[in-house]
Amino acid sequence: MVKADTLDKIRRPLEFVSRDDFSKMDAVAGLERSVSAWVGELEASGPPQPVRSALEDLRGALRGFDALGFDEKRARVETALRVLDHIERGWAQTPSKGRRSGRQGAGNRRTRPDRAQSFLTDTIQAVRGVGPRRAETLARLGIQTIGDALFFLPRKYVDRSRLQPISALQVGRAETFLASVLGGRVAFIGRGRRIYEVTLGDSTGVVTCIWFAFRTAYLKERYQPGKRFLLSGVVRSNPRRGGRLEVHHPEVEEAEGEGSGGESIRMGRETLHTGRIVPFYPAMEGLNQRSFRSFMKRVVDDFSGRVVDVIPKEIVERRGLGSLPEAIRGVHFPPEGADVESLNSGRSPWHRRLIFDELFCLQTGLALRKDRRKRRRRRLSYRLEGPLTSRFLRDLPFALTEAQHRILGEIGGDLLSPSPMNRLLQGDVGSGKTVVAAWAALAAIQSGHQAVIMAPTEILAEQHADRVRLWTDPLEVQSALLTGRIKGKARAKLLEGAAEGSISLIVGTHALIQQDVRFRSLGLAVVDEQHRFGVMQRSALRGKGGEPDVLVMTATPIPRSLALTLYGDLDFSVLDEMPPGRMPVETLVYVGEAEADAWRLLQRELAAGGRAYFVLPLVEETEKSDLKAAVETAERLRRQFHPLPVGLLHGRMKGEEKEAVMRRFREGGVRLLVTTTVIEVGVDVPDATVMWVEHADRYGLAQLHQLRGRVGRGPEKSYCVLRASPPLTGEAEARLAVMAETSDGFQIADRDLEIRGPGEMFGIRQAGAPELRLTRLLRHTGLLGQAREDAFHLVGRDPALSAP
Ligand code: ADP
Ligand code: MG
Repeated sequence: MVKADTLDKIRRPLEFVSRDDFSKMDAVAGLERSVSAWVGELEASGPPQPVRSALEDLRGALRGFDALGFDEKRARVETALRVLDHIERGWAQTPSKGRRSGRQGAGNRRTRPDRAQSFLTDTIQAVRGVGPRRAETLARLGIQTIGDALFFLPRKYVDRSRLQPISALQVGRAETFLASVLGGRVAFIGRGRRIYEVTLGDSTGVVTCIWFAFRTAYLKERYQPGKRFLLSGVVRSNPRRGGRLEVHHPEVEEAEGEGSGGESIRMGRETLHTGRIVPFYPAMEGLNQRSFRSFMKRVVDDFSGRVVDVIPKEIVERRGLGSLPEAIRGVHFPPEGADVESLNSGRSPWHRRLIFDELFCLQTGLALRKDRRKRRRRRLSYRLEGPLTSRFLRDLPFALTEAQHRILGEIGGDLLSPSPMNRLLQGDVGSGKTVVAAWAALAAIQSGHQAVIMAPTEILAEQHADRVRLWTDPLEVQSALLTGRIKGKARAKLLEGAAEGSISLIVGTHALIQQDVRFRSLGLAVVDEQHRFGVMQRSALRGKGGEPDVLVMTATPIPRSLALTLYGDLDFSVLDEMPPGRMPVETLVYVGEAEADAWRLLQRELAAGGRAYFVLPLVEETEKSDLKAAVETAERLRRQFHPLPVGLLHGRMKGEEKEAVMRRFREGGVRLLVTTTVIEVGVDVPDATVMWVEHADRYGLAQLHQLRGRVGRGPEKSYCVLRASPPLTGEAEARLAVMAETSDGFQIADRDLEIRGPGEMFGIRQAGAPELRLTRLLRHTGLLGQAREDAFHLVGRDPALSAP
């Protein structure tokens, strides 16, 4: 226990300084010295090698601590806390000596810091009958600890609980019955092929069970006349054998105890593989369902009762949730009479309990983060009314939509509030987010601060810079563009201007968050197309100016349920109204039909001075044939549309080449752009009126929506041609139908969620959400709402979560 005590001693001051977002950083002195002394104590206790080197890391993390700046200190403390977690885990696991293989499939990972629950993080080898070999197989499924196993849920359930007398078995159906062995033998079925037949019967009839792959000695031994078995399988009738009833490779479990068979049978013990609702786990190599089920039964029997609930009792009762141990047992081995359909759709009471648990923990985390953020105090103050904002609004060539007005109000409220802004602005392509961003930037600038607008690619950054400058140049706002292409003297000058404050507005790429970029007073950071930026980058940006206000903008129409799960700690604005006068894009879908009309349309649009995209599937770095196809297509179109200039853009071109082609397209030097999907989200070429997508069936809805969003940005009517060749999968067909039906991004997102679940949607993987879990969670929007309400309420009442 010395170890745990000492680890606690180290943890306490670290946690103390990290509290309230490190506002207590300066309250602790001599951290390095005291931690170093405790580390020495631990080293003296002879820790295993991995722990020893982690202790060294811990020491290193705090080296020279007192002399560091705030940001660095904060990073060091965070590192130290991580190392500490690592050490605690390392120590807990060393007795097994098992080499921990890399963690994979974090989908079912579950960790709880609670000490009483520490068995959850015990290695799976603590389970009876699990040795190093088995543990390795399990690790491949992401099961390394007892907790992992308990929360590794069945993929489906099969009802084998209803026993039928043999006379009532129906051919063609999966049935379960209890019968005694009458006899068994090897039989020959021609061409030297052998089968093993076992005849079983009850008082009402006889069934023959057949194995095509077998070891004679084993089957002979197992199926001795007189033994009784529970059997499940699809019942067949064999016409060549006079219509006798057969079951091939049945699922079998030996029946114990007395009883004559037939009606309702009480077995001597609980059965696992038949005679009940049977769980099936995700398929895997090296483990079969039977042995996995038996393993799971042992885990559940031995450990589920010890799992401690983290949800406050009051909530459990109010929501009628039932106990957690019961939920774990029920979800793995549903009791008699459970509803199989609800189990299979993940809506059983036990599923709901576990899902609520998970959602609640997730939302509590988000609530805590938000709470902490709201407690931070802003250092900069704003004037919303001022010369820049008022002239900007006056000179705009259009009136703001009501939605834009509303959002200016929301952002304004944030800027005047005592804590820094952290808002997600969601608005479909073309809904006018840039105007909103520009207004906020001007508010910062007229208040004496600087603003940055960050885009994910150079093209987008340049485009933003051009657009924003149209508004800001007349106001004599000093602005600059900073991308990776700006180097040497120009860059040095720009950095100087940013540092001394002579440049008020910088638009750029992630070049903006590099180490050497400093600001005099960074007020506002706008991050466009957020899903392409990692969380890391956002926080690096935050590090630039102490506490800038952050506005994240995305055109990705994330359904509300998903947004609450992924970004639930941000405030939300939705720009849900398009500027007036937009002409909807006409979508034409051709599946294998002659598309002569579409070619005529393309010809007409180009001849009339329009521009068009011609999209081919992605050219992979490795796929020579795809590249060749792209080049050939470009050649063919060049001949077909001669003398109109045709350009080619593909993934194997260098960044500069791509930019050059894109620029020519924007300026009109290229009129028809043959491109693999490298065209960027947000690219704005208002003269483009046709989006032609080949192999449209290969794209997800989000991608198709983004592609279509590239046209219809100017005053001319635009078209989207979606081409595909049959046969299409059902999903592909559904996607194309949705595209033809609606252009509302939110509606499309919801349909997308329906069609294939959130896993693949919108690069969520990049956001780091374990997708399997999300798929399960998001089916439960009702529970999500409840869990969110309860979690935010709890954190509101007890922000330190001090109550048990
Ligand atoms: P987003 O970034 O949301 O895709 P943009 O900000 O690029 O959209 O706006 C798309 C186009 O609509 C721009 O040309 C912009 O000037 C114009 N626009 C924005 N707001 C309005 C409005 N209220 N009325 C008319 N046009 C608008
Ligand atoms: Mg935009």
